[in-house]
Amino acid sequence: MKYCEKCGRKVDTDADICPYCGAPLHEMQDGELSEEELLMLLGLL
Ligand SMILES: [Zn+2]
Repeated sequence: MKYCEKCGRKVDTDADICPYCGAPLHEMQDGELSEEELLMLLGLL
């Protein structure tokens, strides 16, 4: 389950828009590197 950022209601995880208010739902990006991971990558160069 995730929550609509606009109205705060629980919405289906697979939903692209909120069924209550119609706001577009943004997927959380897990692919973003943390600062620690960036430093590790730079150390490899
Ligand atoms: Zn909503």
